[in-house]
Amino acid sequence: MEPIIQLGNKKVYPIIYKPTPNSRDSINCFLLEDAYSLTLIDAGIEQPHYKHFFREQLAAYGFQMHDISQILLTHHHNDHTGMVNDIVACKNIPVYASDKAIPRLRFDTNFLHYKIIFFEQLYEAYNVLHRAVATKRIAKLNSTYQQHEQLKIQADILPLQQSQKLGDLCIHYFPGHSPDSIAFYDEATKWLFAGDVIFANSIPNALVDFDEQGELLPTVRQQQQSFHALQSFELSHVFAGHQPSFTNTKEVIEQSLKRMELKWPRIERVLQQGELTGQQLAQAVYGAKLDQAFIFVMSDIIGYTHYGEMQNKITINKENPVWLFNNKGR
Ligand SMILES: [Zn+2]
Repeated sequence: MEPIIQLGNKKVYPIIYKPTPNSRDSINCFLLEDAYSLTLIDAGIEQPHYKHFFREQLAAYGFQMHDISQILLTHHHNDHTGMVNDIVACKNIPVYASDKAIPRLRFDTNFLHYKIIFFEQLYEAYNVLHRAVATKRIAKLNSTYQQHEQLKIQADILPLQQSQKLGDLCIHYFPGHSPDSIAFYDEATKWLFAGDVIFANSIPNALVDFDEQGELLPTVRQQQQSFHALQSFELSHVFAGHQPSFTNTKEVIEQSLKRMELKWPRIERVLQQGELTGQQLAQAVYGAKLDQAFIFVMSDIIGYTHYGEMQNKITINKENPVWLFNNKGR
């Protein structure tokens, strides 16, 4: 349980959920109270057990669902949007997210259809499409497409843009973990509601995604730039989407950049062996984790090889549907 944080007339009530008592990472959202409003920043995960937990937490703080005056989402992932439909069903309040989150939160069918094709092609290029985990992932994407009506956020989402202000909170884009990742910065208190932009103890996964033109996004470069951009902020307290909140902000940003730097040499070293497929590369770097944490491992392999190619450190032969990866210096 994290304490309530207060500065001037503002208070943050943390809602910290641990799926099991031993869970390493919590799922966090925050109530920000000022003289005029009670803002919910992120909305937890869509699970029956969570719904119960969320209502209990509100009650413990002396609030009810209809006390919430607006919802702000740091990004579209379902461990941040869980309670939105329940809250707006109870009271029609504004829901805000990045403009880039909107097709994702609406489960737009064109967007979902393209997403399936995009991942099939990419997994084929990395020669992992035949693996059972990949088949399962594609089946999941297909079932999301089929169930888009039930899954979508049942509220009008109001789009937020870079540098826009919402009351005292200023919106900042920090892509990397997802293309629509934003953080909310309160200049008076120097508080940052960061979603999954930065964590106290590890780097958020830079998940593979595509831009409006359908092109693979340089997620690793974006994440690195987001960490650099954070260095110019004066921060007193970072409220993150997972793991504990933290105040040693400079240290955490530096650590995060260092952790990123350590990833590339592992890939480079494996490529010293010679020309490899994406699957061979993933297996050599991650071993059994490739199947155990498929989405995260492939996001790393795809993200860092794309990064290496952009930095001219490796070449990727894309002549055939299955790509071949080469260390440039060989
Ligand atoms: Zn998350």
